[in-house]
Amino acid sequence: MRIAIVGGGLSGLTAAAYLSDSPGIQGTLFERSPQLGGRAFTYEKSGFTLNYGAHAVYGMDRHTLLNMENELNLRFHSKQVDKRNVVYAKHGQLTPAPLDFVNIMKTGVLTTMEKFRFVAEIAAVITNIHQLKNYPTLGDYLNKSNASPDVKELWEHLVSSNFFITPEEARRVSGEVIAEYYQNLFLSHKPVNYILGSWSTITNQLVGKISQNQNWEIAVKEPVESITMENDKFLLHTKTRESLVFDQVIFAMPVQQVAKLLESTPWGNSLEPYKNNTSTEVLVYDVGFSKVLNRPFHYISDMNNKLFISDVSATDHTVVPEGGQLLQGIAYLNDDFVDDDQKKQYLESKTLQMEALFDTYYPGWRDNTTVKRVSKKAMVASVKNIHTNKLLPNQLDQVPFYFCGDGCEGKGELAERAFSSGRKVAQDILASTAQIKALSYS
Ligand SMILES: Cc1cc2nc3c(=O)[nH]c(=O)nc-3n(C[C@H](O)[C@H](O)[C@H](O)COP(=O)(O)OP(=O)(O)OC[C@H]3O[C@@H](n4cnc5c(N)ncnc54)[C@H](O)[C@@H]3O)c2cc1C
Repeated sequence: MRIAIVGGGLSGLTAAAYLSDSPGIQGTLFERSPQLGGRAFTYEKSGFTLNYGAHAVYGMDRHTLLNMENELNLRFHSKQVDKRNVVYAKHGQLTPAPLDFVNIMKTGVLTTMEKFRFVAEIAAVITNIHQLKNYPTLGDYLNKSNASPDVKELWEHLVSSNFFITPEEARRVSGEVIAEYYQNLFLSHKPVNYILGSWSTITNQLVGKISQNQNWEIAVKEPVESITMENDKFLLHTKTRESLVFDQVIFAMPVQQVAKLLESTPWGNSLEPYKNNTSTEVLVYDVGFSKVLNRPFHYISDMNNKLFISDVSATDHTVVPEGGQLLQGIAYLNDDFVDDDQKKQYLESKTLQMEALFDTYYPGWRDNTTVKRVSKKAMVASVKNIHTNKLLPNQLDQVPFYFCGDGCEGKGELAERAFSSGRKVAQDILASTAQIKALSYS
């Protein structure tokens, strides 16, 4: 059996690693860029390791990566972000972020009575009896709730910062999705961890695994441009090769790009409902210093301006040269603009807000910056998890392909959904191959 995987990001590499681990399957993984990793691409600059996307893992002790470690024999280490050093800034005041019982008791964003109310809400989420799961959206739940405005604001802020979206959009996330997400996170003993050495620690091992199998090819700088079908086989046409023959194809790329690629094929109509899904985009502002300028906290979330800064190097020392410091600022973005000019001005104002936050807590940063990377449009999730968007199933009726990636159905959010959906499609293919073999023997 010959399998093509289109996309060399976390999901495509995961699917390829599982399939190449199984005898009797040949395959090619196509990646249009010169490098693998997709949005989890990592690169070195002046001794700093910069991630195109961050490498925080949410709920490490309940994460798909644990299955992958065991099943694929991966080896990596992670370190937990120190919860006591995670703060919220509200009206210029710093206060512990209410992430666990200890921080909730210390935080200034809730009054004593509100703290009890919030703890009760967390307990209800953990035991799966919270009413939130029955509401179409967080906004619907908050409209009915008799909680104080501070508790409501806290819910919005939590969802906003975990899903990388604005508070207005947080109100449009389904109650069921939020209840499930926080049940997992509140039950976790390792809510936020960094993979030491960044995503490349994992992608390098996945690539190593695929490369061990001589029946597998990794084709970088080779975008797949179209696909046709002949005699029950799929013919892939890439930028450099024509009519490569495969028995099965996995699309491991953002959903909107898959819909575009298949637009004028017999399967285009089935992808139509997913074509206009909106994605989650953020502004990313990385700065690296050759020495630690200041370390007032490890993470700050500015509740007024909807920005956060992670002192990545406070947790993961592998990303900096000795004694250095790496900060990553992220701003959640609105996507509702009348024209490009308005959008440009908005992005400019977000950049200035971010720089002002650096000025406040890292004085002198402008004169001490060794590396800097600003991206005004980074796609965190290819499908924003609001109730009007629809995640793409791993298989669709009347469509002979498999789909994986962070815009597809799968466990968790963000990178976990990329890993879990990649693992799932590989396991589904292996199961159906085993079934076909069993039938042919009987
Ligand atoms: C700023 C930022 C911060 C983030 N922070 C976190 C975080 O802290 N924690 C977390 O869990 N996740 C985080 N993420 C999300 C995480 O990076 C993504 O969920 C994950 O990398 C998505 O992987 P994927 O395989 O689904 O898609 P992609 O990474 O987009 O991979 C798709 C690949 O397909 C290739 N491709 C597209 N079209 C073609 C074609 N026609 N032919 C061949 N190849 C093609 C692309 O070049 C790409 O390499 C962050 C992302 C960003 C941008």
